[in-house]
Amino acid sequence: MELFSLEGCTALVTGVNRGIGLALAEALAEAGADIIGLYRTDCRAAEKAVTRYGRRFHALQCNLEQTPVEGLSEAVRQAVNLGGRLDIVVNNAGIIRRSPAVEHSETDWDAVLQVNLKAVFFLTQAAARVMKEQGRGKIINIASMLSFQGGILVPSYTASKHGVVGITRALANEWAACGINVNAIAPGYIATDNTAPLRADPVRNRSILERIPAGRWGTPADLKGAVVFLASPASDYVNGAVIPVDGGWLSR
Ligand code: NDP
Repeated sequence: MELFSLEGCTALVTGVNRGIGLALAEALAEAGADIIGLYRTDCRAAEKAVTRYGRRFHALQCNLEQTPVEGLSEAVRQAVNLGGRLDIVVNNAGIIRRSPAVEHSETDWDAVLQVNLKAVFFLTQAAARVMKEQGRGKIINIASMLSFQGGILVPSYTASKHGVVGITRALANEWAACGINVNAIAPGYIATDNTAPLRADPVRNRSILERIPAGRWGTPADLKGAVVFLASPASDYVNGAVIPVDGGWLSR
């Protein structure tokens, strides 16, 4: 399985300590990568998960909502110093704010667009400067079903996730010839803190479950295969793809 091996690679994963980010970091470590874990509040769970596979874990604290563009460049510089190299970036950290569109505040709009889209673009821009020098690199963005659909009561989130697919394609076009693969994973409905309010609402929970052909909520572990594929040489000719891992939601 040489094609899927990440031996000798270093991956930066944002939002590394819980939910989907934790599972993605664990999968990359299991495939052989050392992990630079970008976290906001705590990274102990991620450190434990990564080192269990005998890989190195480097902690990098950064609040993506409050860090200006120069700070994101500095975070990438620190990541390269910590890891010695930078082969893979997984832009996973994300937030959601729920309210009807007529009540959606500027504060919520700005926070969601900052974390989910602006920070993704500028962190990726800084990483690509390093990857261009190396002549290769893998950027993996975490999109959403709401990269394709309108969603319910989450207008800023939907705007940000449509944007994530837009920049995935734009950057893939520009950087494919430099050996940098830019792709996205679009998770379906995954049981994490992000979706806890939906699962706690019996009406929403039932209507979501009824629409998923697989008949169950996804788990963060369901995304492990896609991230290893997109991080590894197996995807070297995959550029600008958005891979749904959704139990069939989009095919419905
Ligand atoms: P969680 O809410 O479980 O985790 C979010 C992660 O993002 C946490 O690690 C959190 O850190 C981090 N984060 C939030 N704000 C910041 C910030 N300002 N700076 C740095 N890190 C931050 O979410 P999920 O695991 O569910 O979501 C992960 C990604 O997957 C998101 O982009 C989300 O939009 C996307 N997604 C999720 C789906 C789902 O069904 N769950 C479906 C489709 C996409 P901290 O622990 O410090 O708060």
